Amino acid sequence: MERRRPGDRDGRREPGGRRGARRPRAAWSAVVLLAAACGKEASPPPADRAPDPPPARLRRFEIADPRSADLAFTALGAVELALFARGRGPLEVVIEEDGAPAAKSLLALSGEARSPAAVALPGAGTRALRVRVSAPAGTTLEEARVRDEEPRLPGAKRLAGALRGRSLMIVVCDALHARRLGSWGHERDTSPNVDALAREGVRFAAANAQSAWTLPSIATLFTGLEQERHGVRDYGRALDAELPTLAEAFQAAGHSTAAFVQNPVVSAPSGLARGFDRFTEYGRDAAARVPRDVRDHLAAAGAQPCFVYVHLLPPHAPYAPPRELATRFGRPTHEVDGHFAGIDRLAKAQPAADDPRVVQLAALYDNHVAWGDQLAGELFRAAAEHGRDRTVVLFLSDHGEAFAQHGDIGHERNVHDEIATIPLVLWAPGSPLTPGSVVREPVWMPDLLPSLAELFALDAGGEAHGQSFAGLLEGRDAGGARVLRLSAKYRVGTPDQRAIVFGRFKLVAPARKRPTALFDLEADPGETNDVSADHPVLAAALLGELVRWASEPLSESAAPGFVPDAKMRAALRELGYVDDGGK
Ligand SMILES: [Zn+2]
Repeated sequence: MERRRPGDRDGRREPGGRRGARRPRAAWSAVVLLAAACGKEASPPPADRAPDPPPARLRRFEIADPRSADLAFTALGAVELALFARGRGPLEVVIEEDGAPAAKSLLALSGEARSPAAVALPGAGTRALRVRVSAPAGTTLEEARVRDEEPRLPGAKRLAGALRGRSLMIVVCDALHARRLGSWGHERDTSPNVDALAREGVRFAAANAQSAWTLPSIATLFTGLEQERHGVRDYGRALDAELPTLAEAFQAAGHSTAAFVQNPVVSAPSGLARGFDRFTEYGRDAAARVPRDVRDHLAAAGAQPCFVYVHLLPPHAPYAPPRELATRFGRPTHEVDGHFAGIDRLAKAQPAADDPRVVQLAALYDNHVAWGDQLAGELFRAAAEHGRDRTVVLFLSDHGEAFAQHGDIGHERNVHDEIATIPLVLWAPGSPLTPGSVVREPVWMPDLLPSLAELFALDAGGEAHGQSFAGLLEGRDAGGARVLRLSAKYRVGTPDQRAIVFGRFKLVAPARKRPTALFDLEADPGETNDVSADHPVLAAALLGELVRWASEPLSESAAPGFVPDAKMRAALRELGYVDDGGK
């Protein structure tokens, strides 16, 4: 089996590559088998070209016997059943909920031609449903469809357009796990600046990245689409020129647009510079220059509102902050120095999370988190100087960083808490936002584009997978859990791991040493205790969602791909990425 593909950075992190390669494949087979056992749904037809995203949570059932059907499935919310039949009917429908009789009805049909009849199924929330349908003589049952109602976040009232005409500075600290920050409960004082921003702004306690590494994550931030839909899943893929971007939306609203980017993955050839009047790239060692350039840019802007995207590399590896921070929470040693060679050596040894070398490495990461926080703090001050009453700051990360909590060190391979939970703070002094408030409802990266569009009254065009969270900022009730879909880095058509976040629960597949695992994020935010045996119906429902999602065709970008040039390859090599990406 092949293992070292272009851009396959983590191939070298798995000791005995063959073992590392087979693990997800075998586990995925188990996931699919499990799904086959728990559902009887028809697979979507293969498509040459990815169609528009299908209506959310629509299932079709194959009808083998035209006189009767027996449909068993798990549901997450309100459900409508539609039956298509020819004849005069009526159809007899008997419904069981969680194994008990729930309802019985006769559905009239309109005539001899194929006609639909719909019925709302009883119950709410997560439950196992079984529907038996019988047709009388002379009536032919042709198709059954079940549609789960897509939960919507509450709409905004006061806050729609509340930030219109203000400048926006987005600050990304790359590879920053939220729980390494004080405001997310870290015991070390790594983040005085972000914590201060959160005290004056709104903190999202449960924000999720959609993907596990930089390129797809930023493409999601800019488009509101999952990596499965925007198609920028690896080096050499460019964002489809037809997809509208966040920068273009600000441009159309009259903002000047500028990007200051320190990660070479976020580049013009990837299509991610589209919509920016100015796009400035920085080398790995140039972090200190970024806030100064941003301040100068804002000072020169005059009265025109600005959209500024700042992508800082810290705390992304190598963990090498300036001298004054290099020993703050831990000292580099000969064996664990925070550079790639040492990180790779350690990853290959597959240490446990409490191995002293891992603990030491995480301390060096915290040093680098403090450096990212310091740089971010300079940017926050530049935003305040630009005008507290006319500037908004959105602080976040593109994904987290793992220290063997679930076996991996670094990022890309999994979507557990250490990778998926990102910091997210929205700061808008003098606006109707409530300073110091906390949003606990789960949100995810695809929500950002529609949210900013609603708050800034932008025409974002296109279709986002996320929803605006502006209503949550008004303290409105979320009104039911949404299904958030997370995926790790893609290898040969499938990601290493997927997850479904549903309210306080998260289903991960494949999980370590088992096909799936269900976690209760409220009781167990670190995702250590599989509770699927306590919640079998929910686990089955979420697995059904996950398998249905995994069987949707992937969108491929229609934009021409590219081969990274020598300069970009050198920059990628500096960051520990293999340098043959895009071939
Ligand atoms: Zn990143």
